[in-house]
Amino acid sequence: MARIFMLKGDINRPGHVDIPEESTTLREVVEQLGGGMANGKRCKAVQIGGPSGGLLSAEQLDLPLHFQQLKPYGIRRGDSVITVLDEDRCMVDVACRFMQYTQTEFCGKCVSCREGTKRMNELLWALRNYRLSEEDFSLLMDLGEMISVTAFCNLGRGSFSTLQSAVKYFPEEFRGHLDGHCALCENDYRYPIQPGDLPYNRICLVVDPAICRGCSKCARNCHANAITGVVRSPFSIDPEKCVKCYTCIEACPFDAIKEVELDV
Ligand code: SF4
Ligand code: SF4
Ligand code: SF4
Repeated sequence: MARIFMLKGDINRPGHVDIPEESTTLREVVEQLGGGMANGKRCKAVQIGGPSGGLLSAEQLDLPLHFQQLKPYGIRRGDSVITVLDEDRCMVDVACRFMQYTQTEFCGKCVSCREGTKRMNELLWALRNYRLSEEDFSLLMDLGEMISVTAFCNLGRGSFSTLQSAVKYFPEEFRGHLDGHCALCENDYRYPIQPGDLPYNRICLVVDPAICRGCSKCARNCHANAITGVVRSPFSIDPEKCVKCYTCIEACPFDAIKEVELDV
């Protein structure tokens, strides 16, 4: 089944694309659908899934864009956004931008996500600005681990993934920031990567009334209280309350919740 993705970042042709999730590789996404890397630069990494997603390095571009198959690589089902990053992007900066964006997305219901991501954001910015000690860096990573197992929904649980994968694939960039020097940050004067650009919000989740059996499982799993309905009748999602954590999609036993592109 094709899924609408928002392609963005350092590619020639950003925009919305229909991607048959099961078969398309990330390389095809970058090189064909995205028109290749902008300015002839090399691809360094792709971030998949927005604030609750994660990062893969360019060595993994031959993986298919299939969330089940990407799970072992730490990629959760998240927003349908793929951000392509070129060789000159610093992954500490990228991790910061994604963590900062998570702050605007959470619903605030659980302490772990609400307070934990706030603290992670502070620590990450301190690292970005060369002011984090080794000890506090360990604290940052421990905090991320803790949130990934204690947050109520996918948004909080996935908030550590981008940082975790960035540290795993690009440890030398984190080392540089701990040591007070990063050549990438010092030489990159471009507009930083923005995880929350406007087109990103064009995708929302809806319940297909023809498939929904009214079992209420989605509503019971939605910590943002965005899903309402009467048992045995179709449920519905309030887009104003939905934080796009994708927990309901995973919870629905009938595959009745879909992503749609808003007509704006
Ligand atoms: S319910 Fe989800 S989005 Fe809300 S604060 Fe908790 S983890 Fe974050
Ligand atoms: S409706 Fe679904 S995606 Fe939206 S907040 Fe609730 S569980 Fe998360
Ligand atoms: S979990 Fe699926 S079938 Fe059950 S009420 Fe929600 S959308 Fe409908």
